Amino acid sequence: MASEIETSAMRRAVVLSAFGLGGTSPNPPVGCVVLDRDGHVVGEGYHQRKGEAHAEVHALAAAGDRARDGTAVVTLEPCNHHGLTPPCRQALLDAGIARTVIGLIDPTSREEGGAARLRAAGVDVEIGVLADTVRQVLHPWLHALTTRRPHVTWLYEIDAQGQVTSPGEVLVQRHRTGVDAVVDVHDRITEGRPGAHGPTAFTLSAGTMTGDPGDVLATLYEGGTRSVLIAGRPDAARRLLTAGLVDRIVSYTVPAAASGVGTPVPTSLPEGFDITTIDATEGWVRVDATPSPSRPRYP
Ligand SMILES: [Zn+2]
Repeated sequence: MASEIETSAMRRAVVLSAFGLGGTSPNPPVGCVVLDRDGHVVGEGYHQRKGEAHAEVHALAAAGDRARDGTAVVTLEPCNHHGLTPPCRQALLDAGIARTVIGLIDPTSREEGGAARLRAAGVDVEIGVLADTVRQVLHPWLHALTTRRPHVTWLYEIDAQGQVTSPGEVLVQRHRTGVDAVVDVHDRITEGRPGAHGPTAFTLSAGTMTGDPGDVLATLYEGGTRSVLIAGRPDAARRLLTAGLVDRIVSYTVPAAASGVGTPVPTSLPEGFDITTIDATEGWVRVDATPSPSRPRYP
């Protein structure tokens, strides 16, 4: 069982991990909080881009000697492989960490995972703490891993006549920072946050969303993209929709013009999607939706 302090630390780690969204791919966004033996925070960190330090290494560096006999709280299982950086499970052992609290097991763990190796070295390991909360940040990355294509969000506006239109620049700016790539009204694909990704680990291998959308997404995946925001023309987005390649919808509706009696009901949400959240913000109503469970998610 995780203690109350550890659960709070996991919530903090999840928030930190989200700062990595739109920068870490093809690596996952991960956050870490290190507690000393008395349960005080002595270090925090998150992974920023591939090729640079992992979350655990940032948090351990901040903690220094105070990590000894302490607890590392980390959203995803510490890595156990020598990639561009040394394995985090070794960094945790070297720092004298006595306990590790993990949100989700890494489905890409090579050989045996970091959790098993830490246990074998005598570290107390707790797995599955706030897993659903952790999944809210890791979902696009996990989804991309399963489908071998980036997770796709379609962003659009619904105008006063109830018509679906391309999102305005304010909305695109608001949503592009958390994704790897954005498709604009000219079908051009650009980095969500320009220059955010590790230059050797990430390349936008497709310049435009033209041709078969499944092929373009597969090419983007090969180049390291794990999440895409479709902020283009509705007709272009509907091509992806028809192909079953839209995983999330974020729509903003402006106050409606008075609709006349006898007019057709505006279709603001495509068939096969369920609303997950609705809220009012800055004069808009925002509606988020995901494919209905009854609809096959992975064509
Ligand atoms: Zn690592």
